[in-house]
Amino acid sequence: MSGPVVYESSLPWDGERPSTTIITCVDGRWYSHFQEFARQHLNAGTRTDFIAVPGGVEPLTLMDLVPKDFNFLSRRLESLIDAHGTSRIVAIAHQDCAWYKSKSLGPLKIDLRERQIKDLQKAAAHLREVFKGVTVETYFARFSADDTKRVVFEQV
Ligand SMILES: [Zn+2]
Repeated sequence: MSGPVVYESSLPWDGERPSTTIITCVDGRWYSHFQEFARQHLNAGTRTDFIAVPGGVEPLTLMDLVPKDFNFLSRRLESLIDAHGTSRIVAIAHQDCAWYKSKSLGPLKIDLRERQIKDLQKAAAHLREVFKGVTVETYFARFSADDTKRVVFEQV
């Protein structure tokens, strides 16, 4: 049984599975930039599978520390990759991430970027180990060095 329709999307349906899964933080200020990066730089098409949790891939680094967080994300990722035949995983972290800031117990000036890049690399190593045929790429999104507040991406 169907309920009353409140909205009809103007977009046509395309049932073909995207080959790329992007894992990022949920921060909506960065979402459009991630999407544009996926289309323009990664050539991942206009649609990608998209997993967003606060802090991005961080749970995948918590196998020993917080296994339930690790399991939550890794189980869903395994299921998705099995079902969709994903061939490429792209993990993106971003500057000024509230999740990393909230977890940061060190001095205020601690370099979260370094920590986030370490986490991206640890998560990528895990993903490459588990998903043998899948390409894994990691990027860090930040503001440009000038004061224009443009968003730029580094491969890390
Ligand atoms: Zn964030």
